[in-house]
Amino acid sequence: MKIVHAASELFPYMKTGGLADAVGALTGTFAQLGHEVSVFLPGYRGALAHPLAAKAERKFRLKVEMGDQYLSGDVYSFSPSKNLTVFLIVRDEFYDRKYPYGNGERDYEDNSDRFIFFCKAVVETMRLADLGADIVHAHDWQTALLPLLLREAERRFGVTLGMKTVFTIHNIAFQGLFSAACYPRTNLPDELFSMDGLEYYGQVNFMKAGILFADRVTTVSPRYAKEIQTPEFGCGLEGVVQTRIDDLSGLINGVDSAVWNPASDKLIPARYTASDLAGKRACKAELLKVCGFDPAFQGPIFGMICRLTEQKGIDLVLANADFFTGKMCRFVILGAGEKRMEDALKKIALSYPDKVFVCPKHDETMSHLIESGSDFFVMPSLFEPCGLNQMYSQVYGTVPIVSRVGGLFDTVRDADEDPVNGTGVMCAPNALELRGALERALRLYDDKARYGAVQQRGMARDFSWKTAALAYETLYRDAL
Ligand code: ADP
Repeated sequence: MKIVHAASELFPYMKTGGLADAVGALTGTFAQLGHEVSVFLPGYRGALAHPLAAKAERKFRLKVEMGDQYLSGDVYSFSPSKNLTVFLIVRDEFYDRKYPYGNGERDYEDNSDRFIFFCKAVVETMRLADLGADIVHAHDWQTALLPLLLREAERRFGVTLGMKTVFTIHNIAFQGLFSAACYPRTNLPDELFSMDGLEYYGQVNFMKAGILFADRVTTVSPRYAKEIQTPEFGCGLEGVVQTRIDDLSGLINGVDSAVWNPASDKLIPARYTASDLAGKRACKAELLKVCGFDPAFQGPIFGMICRLTEQKGIDLVLANADFFTGKMCRFVILGAGEKRMEDALKKIALSYPDKVFVCPKHDETMSHLIESGSDFFVMPSLFEPCGLNQMYSQVYGTVPIVSRVGGLFDTVRDADEDPVNGTGVMCAPNALELRGALERALRLYDDKARYGAVQQRGMARDFSWKTAALAYETLYRDAL
């Protein structure tokens, strides 16, 4: 098949979260399976400077209609591996920035223009490059206009493109909600700015377009596919999602074993396998050292890696700060995001430097060290479309402590409830339940045989992307 993907993040060129990992791994796996894959990404500063993009060449000049203006852009492309072409849409005014969506404090004010332009540039490049795609797969609100723009292009130019479109919701909490003033920039017909179209209480909602107009809608776990049909998790779009239940599926992400595999991971101090955990002990020793903890400490290390935001349950962790400072354990958290949370965590680390370590930044190497060197991984998300770290943790022999939501529900089993198959510790997403789960984790750690068995079962699990990619392949064929 000829498969086109468009996304605002793509590992290793631009990443803020799981979206980048998912799109990077999925497209790479499709290419390995022999499909002809093109991936579109905005030409961010970091992406253009990435060593793999060094061979990128300018292929096309674009003129993109934006309301009553035409804006120019360039398309650079390169092929990082067989069957895979990356297209970077370059317009410095929009993308020559360090961060993809905002400066840390607030979102960029021109985000609607930046992503309308990007989606239109993808449509135009597909035409110029004569890509002849079978499937066009858009991810999250930033590319949610793409299925509709393709359909509109067919209508405007009286052509049938023959492709099918897929839209994947990686997180319905981010919808791309903008003032109605941006609507004319889409050049879409006025009648689509309505309740049955992009309008959402007087504003423009990009994600709504993806859900309504793609041929197939997917999200990243079966449980989340159910949850987003409810007011509790649908973030106001539950009614829109319900209109597509016949075309909606939940396909779990995988683990990119080229990046996340303790047997071959170059970013960790020692490699290891389920049958020989000596390397894991070396990783723990290094983690204790990097955090400035007592190198002779024998108890468990609880690790955490995430965006510092309400979704990830940081407030539940803060409410349980006395657990981490009072018990025989150590806690290390790697995360950047909301200042309030960062300050609160730093305050605890400052008072208890021998027990708590906070690393308030994005750090790929540190994330691998925490996954490998910790004994438990803490992930008490309030909602979690799929989640990746709970899967990485199982693969790295680090027992996950997770809330029973979304992809966490689908990928972890509680070791007390299911002593035969359990691979983690689960709780409801509230502070009290998390406390119970942390206490249970301590008891599990004290029972070395039981902890070892839980760890081994996690390491034996298969989260390969191949399984995930085959599920998408089936969906594509079904759509076609
Ligand atoms: P989300 O996409 O909601 O952020 P996921 O669990 O799906 O959550 O994916 C998060 C990804 O980002 C994981 O690969 C995780 O290791 C990584 N990550 C999150 N925060 C950091 C950080 N501060 N430094 C390095 N990697 C991080």
